[in-house]
Amino acid sequence: MTVGVLALQGDFEAHRKVLEGLGADVREVRTPADLGGVAGLVLPGGESTTMTLGIEREGLAEPLRELAAAGAPVLGTCAGMIMLDRDHLGVLDIAAERNAFGRQVHSFEARLDLDGVGDGVEAIFIRAPWAREVGDGVEVLAAVDGHPVAVRQGDVLAVSFHPELNGETRLHSWLLARIATTQTGGEAK
Ligand code: GLN
Repeated sequence: MTVGVLALQGDFEAHRKVLEGLGADVREVRTPADLGGVAGLVLPGGESTTMTLGIEREGLAEPLRELAAAGAPVLGTCAGMIMLDRDHLGVLDIAAERNAFGRQVHSFEARLDLDGVGDGVEAIFIRAPWAREVGDGVEVLAAVDGHPVAVRQGDVLAVSFHPELNGETRLHSWLLARIATTQTGGEAK
């Protein structure tokens, strides 16, 4: 199975390494043509304003939406959560608040239990967003101080933190498992 990693900006290389470590074929996605044959997608952390400009420049918004609408599982981390929200790609029915923990709080760590993904996830937050609003079809998997930092809507999972930076592989494993299920026409979720 080929997993696409949006590679316009941000820490896509770290995601690539985690996915390859789990045995996946990875395609770095920079243009709509790169999405051909891709069965699932990762939107990395980085800078959401820069990523938005790159998506516009490359005409990637519609192809990315179509891929998600076709049922391809998606994992978005940090800026990737922002890219998925109502005000950006509109794949996830949430409104993300950028730099929500305050600009002065550059980074912190927390241990989180994510329902259906893993318990005791060591989560690294770097100028992280949270979900300010969450639609009815969206499940909150974890929160910090009452603010959603991990949300799932069907096969789209978005987290405020950076699982790709500290050897935490369970979110990527979740993505690959969901891809395997959709590829075999497996049970609906
Ligand atoms: N603060 C960044 C933004 O708003 C996200 C930070 C990150 O991805 N680590 O785009």
